[in-house]
Amino acid sequence: MARNFNFSAGPAMLPTAVIERAREEMLDWNGSGMSVMEMSHRGKEFVSIAEKAEADLREILSIPENYKVLFLQGGASSQFAMIPLNLLRGKTNADYINTGMWSKKAIAEAKRFCDVHLAGDTSDNNFTSVPDEDALELNAEAAYVHYTPNETIGGVEFGYIPETGDAPLVADMSSTILSRPIDVSRFGLIYAGAQKNIGPSGLTIVILREDLIGNPADGIPTMFDYATHANADSMYNTPPTYNWYIAGLVFEWIKDQGGLSSIAEVNQRKAAKLYTVIDNSGFYANPVAENARSWMNIPFTLADPGLDAEFLSGATKRGLLTLKGHRSVGGMRASIYNAMPEEGVDTLISYMQEFEKQHG
Ligand SMILES: *Cc1c(COP(=O)(O)O)cnc(C)c1O
Repeated sequence: MARNFNFSAGPAMLPTAVIERAREEMLDWNGSGMSVMEMSHRGKEFVSIAEKAEADLREILSIPENYKVLFLQGGASSQFAMIPLNLLRGKTNADYINTGMWSKKAIAEAKRFCDVHLAGDTSDNNFTSVPDEDALELNAEAAYVHYTPNETIGGVEFGYIPETGDAPLVADMSSTILSRPIDVSRFGLIYAGAQKNIGPSGLTIVILREDLIGNPADGIPTMFDYATHANADSMYNTPPTYNWYIAGLVFEWIKDQGGLSSIAEVNQRKAAKLYTVIDNSGFYANPVAENARSWMNIPFTLADPGLDAEFLSGATKRGLLTLKGHRSVGGMRASIYNAMPEEGVDTLISYMQEFEKQHG
């Protein structure tokens, strides 16, 4: 059996140990005689799986007591609407920081519900930087401030957490959650689609401060109200049970690695190696400002785009998959989430150097 190194931006690699454990438990979970897929979400077996996953996530991220953790469906994209519907709380304005494709999508959706003020905007440099912290222009009337700490497509990441005073800070952490320790208490709400650093697609995690729950827009659909899910331990309806279970295995794996500070060390090292190779070559280039470079998604271009197809086919032959850049950016993109082994990055680097020697 060969496990390739898959650089997909999402769904992305999962730790091999997690998939092996799922395989072992596939037909008979813990002597229950059932697969997790077949269990009632209200049965004692699944409830124990669900509770353990939440407890482990709370431990890994040191989530304070006054925050709820929700295991939802609908992807990060549903949160683009759920956030204004729940957090405007009678106000008509929200601040958004525009740093790339995903913030643009969040902004477009929010505009259906409120006036959006851009507290920061890097569109004029083609989304290759983040705004300086002291250049953010916050609106005192804003119900909340939304930003995207890591722009998955542009490979742009904030090196700081914006200070927003009384306005709750809302973060789309889809592609950076669990890549390093974070201070959850700085945020009103954190959300993430699972398919980058948590588990299979189909699960969305929301971590939100309790005082933000319970004052939604008039006429809000039941399923869009955070209170519905918070009051029912994410079991108002049938949750994505198998994905919740796999996420739990990933959380256990993170603990086995020594927690998020150990994970962060490896992630930082993996990213630094790859940026060094790109910067030291006259052949590869990354356009992102040095203080805004992502640890998770690293786009790079070849000096001659005419060589892209050859680069990609050679990579595939070496088991280095899905390196093609997003259609909006072109070139290559290496997504190197937690589950990408350091060996995968080393193998990519050797291939890049070899390719440059031949074609540079
Ligand atoms: C992948 C991604 C999304 C979209 O997530 P879905 O679960 O497909 O809705 C949103 N924001 C960011 C930052 C992402 O990386």
